[in-house]
Amino acid sequence: MNEPRVALVTGSTSGIGLAIARALHADGCRIVLNGFGEPDAIAAIRAELSTAGVPADYDGADLSKPDAVVALVEGVVARHRRIDVLVNNAGIQHTARIEDFPAEQWDRILAINLSAVFHATRAALPSMQARGSGRIVNIASVHGLVASVEKSAYVAAKHGVVGLTKVTALENAESGITCNAICPGWVLTPLVERQIEARAKARGCDRDTAARELLAEKEPTLRFTRAEDIGAMVVFLAGPAGDNITGSAFTLDGGWTAR
Ligand code: NAD
Repeated sequence: MNEPRVALVTGSTSGIGLAIARALHADGCRIVLNGFGEPDAIAAIRAELSTAGVPADYDGADLSKPDAVVALVEGVVARHRRIDVLVNNAGIQHTARIEDFPAEQWDRILAINLSAVFHATRAALPSMQARGSGRIVNIASVHGLVASVEKSAYVAAKHGVVGLTKVTALENAESGITCNAICPGWVLTPLVERQIEARAKARGCDRDTAARELLAEKEPTLRFTRAEDIGAMVVFLAGPAGDNITGSAFTLDGGWTAR
């Protein structure tokens, strides 16, 4: 019997990353979790994503620290002697106009949303190249393709992720390794819930009205993209049908970027 594929999903204790980890686990992967959270909640996720009765691995590496990112990836390769799927998902947000944007928030967003993708990819490639196979999926955003006000660091980082995705794909085009980006629109996760709450407060309206306004402004379908659908897209890209798909950026955005 073939060994299960080993998949590292960064930022998988919440939101989109957790949905991706669940989808890859359902597709037969052995999961390595990463991200912050309460120990009990993380233990429950590890148990839920067990393989052959063994809880999923968990490494709480802080991705704002380059050495910790490298140690996270090297730890996976040392334990499992392989890394088949790397999903660079962890990300944070801060909103403010450029003139008011705290410099430390700029540095933190660039470190977690962009530099960590570089460090993890750089650490994973030698093992993937040696085995002649690997799948890297970077969770960018529609903000990797278009901009919105008050998101300078996030938009800059996500445009960087889309560019880095293309370079990774080209450099490894003949190595059996693919690298693609997924660009979601609004997905109802804690990251977006905080933006809805901030909007409700600023407008003096209730949460549901703020959520409807948020959608109406950007997503023609007036619907949030489901985290599960991003998980399904990662499974597709990591599976056999994704063999010759590389260097692409896929939008799951309810028509946001069609306008
Ligand atoms: P979330 O806040 O629900 O989850 C973020 C995850 O990243 C958590 O597991 C958190 O613990 C982890 N994380 C944060 N900082 C970390 C650090 N320093 N080190 C390690 N882990 C860290 O957010 P989400 O909405 O699920 O976002 C996941 C990704 O999807 C992000 O890259 C985000 O930019 C992107 N995205 C989200 C949306 C959306 O609408 N929610 C849209 C487009 C793109």
